This record gives sequence, structure tokens and C-alpha cells, in this order.
Amino acid sequence: MIVARTIQEIRVAVAAAKSAGQAVGLVPTMGALHAGHYSLIDAASLQCPFVVVSIFVNPIQFAPSEDLAKYPRTPDADLAGCRAHGASAVFMPDVHEVYPRPCRTVVESPNLGRTLCGASRPGHFAGVCTVVAKLFNIVQPDVAYFGAKDFQQAAIIRRMAEDLNFPLAIEVCPTVREADGLALSSRNAYLTPDERREAPALWKSLRLAAEMIVARHPAAGEVVEAILSHLGEHAPGGVVDYVEIVDPVELSPVEKTDGNVVIALAVRFGRARLIDNIHVDCRDCGS
Ligand code: AMP
Repeated sequence: MIVARTIQEIRVAVAAAKSAGQAVGLVPTMGALHAGHYSLIDAASLQCPFVVVSIFVNPIQFAPSEDLAKYPRTPDADLAGCRAHGASAVFMPDVHEVYPRPCRTVVESPNLGRTLCGASRPGHFAGVCTVVAKLFNIVQPDVAYFGAKDFQQAAIIRRMAEDLNFPLAIEVCPTVREADGLALSSRNAYLTPDERREAPALWKSLRLAAEMIVARHPAAGEVVEAILSHLGEHAPGGVVDYVEIVDPVELSPVEKTDGNVVIALAVRFGRARLIDNIHVDCRDCGS
């Protein structure tokens, strides 16, 4: 496995793979890798002979009040995990390699990036889009892999790739969960034991809401109320940031639940802000 710390090194490695006729897959991450990240590497390995994992904690997607300095960093374990999952190369640049000068050009998705998580994290998705666009230009993959856990991020990047004609395919892979339903996240490490006991209520509330929708397509407001009431009872230590039911592509709120929708939520537990979502497609549910 190649460990590239510079743009030049990863470009040389990718160019060699491409000239050998190998398709290149890219798995962008911020490190502190867990089974969710490894599932993306596994999915990439099935489709692409040359898999690049990028590990970079991107400062421009963190607000000054957020956890950039404290974000978990486990580079040795990450490299061992990437090796074990058969990655061909890890691109692990330092901040100055990616941003040698202050970034004066950003890629932004003004409509999709200001709702849901974007409402409470202004500038976050511009930071994400900008670094992902840079990674696409640096690595030039044929396919890039993202997790469904970060549903809004995946929708925005898919749209960015389409709008800006990046010559690659985007694959979105299912969320990997703990046995009790909690979505794996690097930020779960921040949870206290009490918070960890309450956190599975997020997924449970989404599952119950999806069952309600499939059974009788209630108005979106009624579904949101049911989720809030479940969270109030089973996750009293959590502070709800948002619960919304939206169109999966435009991310606009929907009132009716008899179509193709995503229920997305974010809940803060102390230092940890957890997100989760469920996709419910009722176009064929009957009425
Ligand atoms: P991060 O390191 O948090 O930026 O995540 C890197 C990639 O891993 C993103 O595409 C995430 O959506 C994906 N990811 C994170 N957690 C999970 C999970 N539990 N299941 C599947 N993919 C995940």
C-alpha cells in the first residue's frame, strides 16, 4: 500500500494505475476510521482495482466553535485498517499541502447547503464541496464513494459532480450501524455512557416513523411530532437540532409522505452532534 503525503506522490501513483488500465476508486474520509469507512473501501475494492483512501481533517468545513482541534485522530490504526481492507494507496496530506495559501475560491451549493445541517453549520457544505472538488481534481478517480449516513453531503456532492461536469461516478453506500441501531460515527467517541444508552433512540424513532409512513402516509408534521415525542421520552439528554422530511434530491421540505422522501434529523448530546436519516419511498406503497 502506497502512503502518499504530497499531491505529486498521489498523482504519480494514480497515473501509474491508470496507465495499467485500472479503474480508480476514491474514498474521502477525515480519518478515525471505523467499520462505516471500511465498508466504503470494501465497496470500492469490488468495483475498482486501484482504491485511494484520503485521510484529511478539512479545517475549512469546521466553524471556529466546532471540534477541529479535538477531532479524533488515529493515523496508525487508520493505515493498518486501510491495509487490511486492501486499499491501494492512502493520501494523507498535511494542511499546508492542501491549502498552501488561504483558499480564495470556494465551491458552494447555496440551495442544498443551507437547509438541514447547513442551517446550524453555516459554511460547512461550502468547505466540504471545496475540499471534495480539490480531491476529485487531485486524484481524478473514476468512482467516488460516500456514506448514506451523511445523506445531505452525498446529495450535495452528487449534484456538484453533475452541475460541474466532474468526469466520475458517485456511489452512495448504506449506513453501517451498531447492533442497537446507532449509526457508526467518529463522533460517537464523545458520548458519555448515559448518552450512549440514549443515542439508539435516533434510529428507533426513524424506523417507527418509516413504519407510520408506509402504513398510512400521514402528513409530514404528524410524523415529525411522533419522532419528537419518541426522542423526548427515550433520549431526554439529547437536544434536537432538526427533524425534517424532505425530497431526496432537492432537499426541500415535503408536506405529504406518499412519495419518495428522506426523514433526516440531528440531535446534540453534549459535545457530540449526531445525525441520521431514513429513506422511505412510498410511490409503490398503495394508498
Ligand atoms: P467522515 O470521515 O466522517 O468525513 O466520513 C467519511 C465517509 O464515510 C463519508 O462519506 C461518510 O458518509 C462515510 N461514513 C461515515 N460513517 C458511516 C457509516 N456509519 N456508514 C457508512 N458510511 C459512513
